[in-house]
Amino acid sequence: MTRTTAPVPASERSARVVANVGPELFRAVRAERPRRIVLQVPAGLVRNAAELAARLREELGVPVDLASRACFGACDPPTSDEAPRADVAVVLGHAPIPNVPDVRSTFYVEMRDDAGDPRSLAATVAAGGVPKRLGLVASVQHLDLLDPLAAALREHGFDPQVGRGDRRLAYAGQALGCNYTGAEEVSERVDAFLFVGTGRFHPIGLAFAVGQPVWSIDPRRGELEPPIDRAALVRRRQLLVASVREARRWGILVSTFVGQNRSPTALALQARARAHGREAEILLAHRIDPADLLGRDLDAFVNTACPRISLDDSANYPKPVLTPPEFLMALGELPLQPYRFDTYH
Ligand code: SF4
Repeated sequence: MTRTTAPVPASERSARVVANVGPELFRAVRAERPRRIVLQVPAGLVRNAAELAARLREELGVPVDLASRACFGACDPPTSDEAPRADVAVVLGHAPIPNVPDVRSTFYVEMRDDAGDPRSLAATVAAGGVPKRLGLVASVQHLDLLDPLAAALREHGFDPQVGRGDRRLAYAGQALGCNYTGAEEVSERVDAFLFVGTGRFHPIGLAFAVGQPVWSIDPRRGELEPPIDRAALVRRRQLLVASVREARRWGILVSTFVGQNRSPTALALQARARAHGREAEILLAHRIDPADLLGRDLDAFVNTACPRISLDDSANYPKPVLTPPEFLMALGELPLQPYRFDTYH
């Protein structure tokens, strides 16, 4: 079989998506006749990474390298430099991003979780005073729950809505930290959103992206969390924007990860900065690292890579880090209100 590093067409993707580590994955990868595999796991699964690599090695009978760089999403699979000899990648914990080309044959193991009884979750939501016109969003792991949960919610008089979203999302109702276009699509028909999954990462992103209250339910524990304080989130960002209105020297951060590279956006922002008499230098990196930005003669940064670097990790950086829409607010080209989430399309 001829090997190539050319992008894998999206039409072939479905064969490369499996729910969990098991016989289905081993069969699919075996059919690809790999010579060497690179395994990439998200931070939450590193404890089991060596064990998973050993299992793949044993099942498939080929060498398996373990990518050690923390993996954020399907936007940053192992590059050709990081795993030069691997002709197949196995990426755990993420769905593919349909409009991001694969750098080699890649199998996505979405780690689907069938936890959660839809009827009892719907009863909890109904008892929690959540508005009836309700948009549903789920992490990839819990997407299978959306249809049965919507049906159960209807029995309690809810009108659940699930949006398809744009071509960065593999599934209707999917939450991606940089793209909540499925939710945005139904936002005029709902009074609140319900995030189905665990943790605060997605509820916070969703709250930035939509104006309605964002409730969350953890399917495993069956616990309903009250809405995120969106006003406080937005106020914090607006204060940050106000603090750099007079900044003269900007660093524009660009990542070369295949699914985080917005070079055209960076060039457009540089042109806007110069039109306003500001200096703006583009800083290229593979992975954006605060340590690489220390000691530079710059007043602030605008980040075109993963938007969550700006929104969640800004405190780790030596100077304020804005998103592209926030940068345009700082230049006075966009109003502070309504706040605009940096959707990565
Ligand atoms: S850009 Fe950020 S939020 Fe989007 S998929 Fe990558 S890591 Fe996740």
